[in-house]
Amino acid sequence: MAAIPIPHEQTVALVRELGGPVEFVDDYPVKKPGLDEVLAKVLCTGVCQSDLHTRAGTASGPDGKPITAIKLPHIGGHEGVGRIVALGSGLPERDPSIYLGALVGIRFSSRICRRCSYCLGGQEQYCQGVGDFKPTNHLHHEDGAFQEYVCLDAGYLTLLPQDVDPVAAAPTLCAGLTAYKAVKNAEIKVGDFLAVVGAGGGLGGYAVQYGLACGARVIGIDTGEQKKELVTSWGAQFLDFRTTTDLVAEVQSMTNGGADAVVVAAGHSAAFAQAASMLKIGGVMCCIGIPPGGGKIETPVSEIVIKGLKIKGNLVGNLKECLEAVEMVRTGLVKPKTYIRPFRDLPAVYEELEKGDIAGRVVLNIGEDPGPNIR
Ligand SMILES: [Zn+2]
Ligand SMILES: [Zn+2]
Repeated sequence: MAAIPIPHEQTVALVRELGGPVEFVDDYPVKKPGLDEVLAKVLCTGVCQSDLHTRAGTASGPDGKPITAIKLPHIGGHEGVGRIVALGSGLPERDPSIYLGALVGIRFSSRICRRCSYCLGGQEQYCQGVGDFKPTNHLHHEDGAFQEYVCLDAGYLTLLPQDVDPVAAAPTLCAGLTAYKAVKNAEIKVGDFLAVVGAGGGLGGYAVQYGLACGARVIGIDTGEQKKELVTSWGAQFLDFRTTTDLVAEVQSMTNGGADAVVVAAGHSAAFAQAASMLKIGGVMCCIGIPPGGGKIETPVSEIVIKGLKIKGNLVGNLKECLEAVEMVRTGLVKPKTYIRPFRDLPAVYEELEKGDIAGRVVLNIGEDPGPNIR
């Protein structure tokens, strides 16, 4: 066992019913790590749009209808960074690479079967399970990072580089990974034009920076002075969708006939409607983020066929891609814009997210870092 004391009770932010308020409860039990599990003390966590939609009961499934099969009370948070403070039975004997004091991620995917075709094919975030095994995630099935201590499956552990800044790593685990995967899907080559819709938000900011890191010429689309300043500070051009009369024509003109790729990272359905028309012939539209109600792309089939457009979507990415996205943050190639706020600000942060007020990503400070020297 760890030398640091582990309490029996902890503070969590929970929602008793979907659409209900966020409540802070101070006597929620701390779980004991089971076989091949670790207990992590949560240091910080990002706040994702999906947390907001899940709490509100408006998160859309593949059919566009609200997802209702959600564990209650619901404890969100899937962009967390924690430190291992206890090892369950079987560890470290069965896996000596897992040790007390290691930095770990608390991500969307929590448990996977490791045997279905998606797991074996490097797309384990889509795990469908085998036999009686059902995959789980930290959004719908298991308590996430909006708590002080969390049990994690050692067999599918996100072991982070030990010298990464936890605050910069946290939002990279969902927003960063999702944007990184979209830029990969966009098949960017040096000098390509990449348009990012929603460029000043948490997801979009990462898409702009990963795009620039790949050598793309990036046009960030969003609104307001604060977001303009942020997006141009990274070296991208900026278009304000509120003050630009014909956004599609403007992008077409700035790119001499259309962007090679467009990443739609906005949380509102309207952003997806015409985005494909910004593309040149053979261009790729990458959809990330899920608007409430599912959203609709209104591009005519004739345009998709005649221009040979490709439309792709992705749900986060796999663990390997996550570690690649984190590595670019660790080395400083990508610098996420973060604001550190106290844990108890979560309800206020949800309100600000809903209004689209946040340029970058909020990271909640959950607990003090006990440091790596835990024995
Ligand atoms: Zn997320
Ligand atoms: Zn699987």
